[in-house]
Order: sequence, then C-alpha cells, then structure tokens
Amino acid sequence: MAQADAEMVDALVIGAGVVGLAVARALALSGREVMVLEREAAIGTGTSSRNSEVIHAGIYYPAGSLKAQLCVEGRRMLYAYCAERGVAHHRCGKLIVASTASQLAALPAILERARVNGVTDLRLIDREQARELEPQLECLGAVHSPSTGIVDSHGLMLALQGDLEHAGGLVVCHSGVEQMAVGGGGIEVATTDGTRLQARSVVNAAGLEACDLAQRVRGLDARHVPRAWFAKGSYFTLSGRCPFSHLIYPAPDPDRHLAGLGVHLTIDLGGQAKFGPDVQWVEAADDLLVDPARGDGFYAEVRRYWPGLPDGALQPGYAGMRPKISGPGEPAADFLIQGPAMHGVPGLVNLFGIESPGLTSCLAIAQRVAALV
Ligand SMILES: Cc1cc2nc3c(=O)[nH]c(=O)nc-3n(C[C@H](O)[C@H](O)[C@H](O)COP(=O)(O)OP(=O)(O)OC[C@H]3O[C@@H](n4cnc5c(N)ncnc54)[C@H](O)[C@@H]3O)c2cc1C
Repeated sequence: MAQADAEMVDALVIGAGVVGLAVARALALSGREVMVLEREAAIGTGTSSRNSEVIHAGIYYPAGSLKAQLCVEGRRMLYAYCAERGVAHHRCGKLIVASTASQLAALPAILERARVNGVTDLRLIDREQARELEPQLECLGAVHSPSTGIVDSHGLMLALQGDLEHAGGLVVCHSGVEQMAVGGGGIEVATTDGTRLQARSVVNAAGLEACDLAQRVRGLDARHVPRAWFAKGSYFTLSGRCPFSHLIYPAPDPDRHLAGLGVHLTIDLGGQAKFGPDVQWVEAADDLLVDPARGDGFYAEVRRYWPGLPDGALQPGYAGMRPKISGPGEPAADFLIQGPAMHGVPGLVNLFGIESPGLTSCLAIAQRVAALV
C-alpha cells in the first residue's frame, strides 16, 4: 500500500455494530478524531440486529472473566445510558426455572456464582411464588433475577451514533476494509473501493469477520489471531399472545449436557415472544436461514416449563450467528480484547469472540478499549 496518497485519520473503528459504535463514541468523547468504516449500507446489520436484545444480569460467566466483569459493569452503564438518552428498554426480570429434582438442587449454586460476580439481587422462589408471578408456568422452583431486562438494540445504536456524530465523529457506510499494514507511524488501511487511510489507532470491531480481517494485517503476527468458529442460533416466534411477562430460562441441568442455555423464552418491547436461540455449529458466517424442521425439538423443551404451549404455535423466526473463538466441545472462550501489550503492534486493538453478553457489555467494552488506545 502506497503511503504517500493515504489520507491521515486519528482513530479508525472497523465495523458499525453496537460494539464498534460504542467504542467510537467513547473515543470521540475523549477528544479523539474518529471515523467508523462499515462494509454494509447501514449501521447494525450484523449480529447486533440478530440477537435476543436481553440486558443480562451477569449470572453464569466464570468468576473474574471479562464476560463476568464487563456484563455487570456494562449492564449498570446501559440502564443509565438508556434512561438518559431515552432508549426504549424494560427491566422485566427473568426466571430461571427448575423442572427436575436435579435442576432444583442446582439452583443455590446459581445464586452463589452470581454473588461472586457481583450480582446480589437474585432470590430463590418456590413453585407457588413462581406461579404468582407467572400463572402458566410449571416448575419445581426458580431463581428470580429482577435486574435482567430488554432493550431496543437499534434505538441504542442510533443513540450511540448520534453521540459520536455530535462529538465530531463520522460513520462511513459501503466502506469495507480489505487489508491493513503496520508502518509509517501507524496503520495503513485499504478499503474495497480503493481508498487508503493512515490511522494512528485502529480498532477491529468487525464481529464475525474480526479474525479473518486480523489475518489480513501485514505486520501482525498471525499466531495472535485465533481461529474463528461459527455457532448459529435459530429462533421460533410464538403466534398469538404471550402469557408471560418475565423472560423464562430453564435452569442448567447437571443430568443433561446442552451446548447453550436451553430453549428459553424472551419477549421484545412490542410484547412478541420468541424461543431460542438453539446451537448449531456451521461452516459459514452467512448461513442464516432458519430450518423449519428444527422447530420440532422446541415443543418438548418448552413444554417442560409451559405445558400449555398450543400445537402449531411456533413459527420459524430469524437466526443469529455467534462469533466464537472456541470450537465444539471446548470450554467457552472469554471475550478477547487484544491490545498492543498482547500482540506488539502499537495503536491496534482487535476484538475477538464478542458473543453474548456483548450487547449488554458494549459500553464497558468501549471504556476498556478507549483506555488501550
Ligand atoms: C443468537 C445471538 C443472541 C444474542 N443475544 C444477546 C443478548 O440477548 N444480550 C447480549 O448482551 N448479547 C447478545 N448476543 C451478543 C451480541 O449480539 C453481540 O455481542 C454484539 O451484537 C456484537 O456486536 P459487534 O459490534 O461486535 O458485531 P456486529 O454487530 O456483527 O458488527 C460488526 C460489523 O462489522 C462490519 N464489518 C465486518 N467486516 C468488515 C470489514 N472488513 N470492513 C468494514 N466493516 C466490516 C459488519 O458489517 C458489521 O456491521 C447475542 C448474539 C447472538 C448471535
């Protein structure tokens, strides 16, 4: 890449998903001159618009992990931000329900794990208390998480973009980054339309493409780039009125080995209920069609806690793709926020494996990244 004709920019963020936009906003608010390059025609068309829109409390993640820290920190920041900026959200709460004796016996351990993570508002409730909250629910007992909620993810991204632009930053769509090279006192970036930029700092927030893109950075040792894996999650929507007002998650079952959190129920801000996402390892990040046949398995799972689910009530919805950096059968990897101290390239931050709870954590991730560049 020829350096002479490259336009100079201070900070570049690659990817206008919720994380890229939050990072760009944080950098702009700290006084940096920021440009976001987005491959697609609009912001937020990737994983950020194909998720459950849940503000997670931070219950399950391993103690001390980035997921645990940034979820708890990010959840507090997100509720405050949504209130301040008028982003639609609802602190609806969640029930983690036990349908078997082994699940019931495992509920206290959920409270303990959450407590270690700094989530101290959970309470154990019995079958009757659960039925008072949700009359259609069948369970032996449950954990109530009052600080779990839902958010309008697109409204959130628009608010982040608004703040960024107000602070002098810019989002450029139709601008896919093809390759990068370390040199000239920064990082040279070439886009698919032939534009060349020279940036002092670059944040790779390309989501599903982050690993692939990092492989195309000349001057970054490929040993620092993890292998990308893709785990698709399909949703089935409930036709008709949803009888629940809380999100409903099956408790982890020590006797069954599920790859995800089990078939759970989430509600959007319009009151539409959906079940999922399930877990299906796939080869391609754009394999996003929902196979209607996968719905068959959902009925039995859902009826474990909602026996009243009518036949034929589930319709294929949409699918999202988890940007994984650990493969099938491996322990789930933590978020990887990879700055210069890890890979040795000044000014470069790679964000790898930003799967759930990335939406909840976006403002906390942004704060960490801003401190690194
Ligand atoms: C099924 C599912 C359910 C989830 N549910 C939740 C939930 O309920 N709560 C929660 O907290 N989290 C949830 N998550 C996680 C959350 O959705 C993600 O962590 C978050 O959206 C990631 O945002 P991002 O900005 O990193 O990635 P993305 O939204 O994927 O954005 C990356 C952007 O980079 C762009 N891009 C890619 N390559 C290039 C390139 N070369 N040049 C320029 N631009 C490029 C893409 O077009 C895209 O717009 C879920 C995820 C999945 C898959």
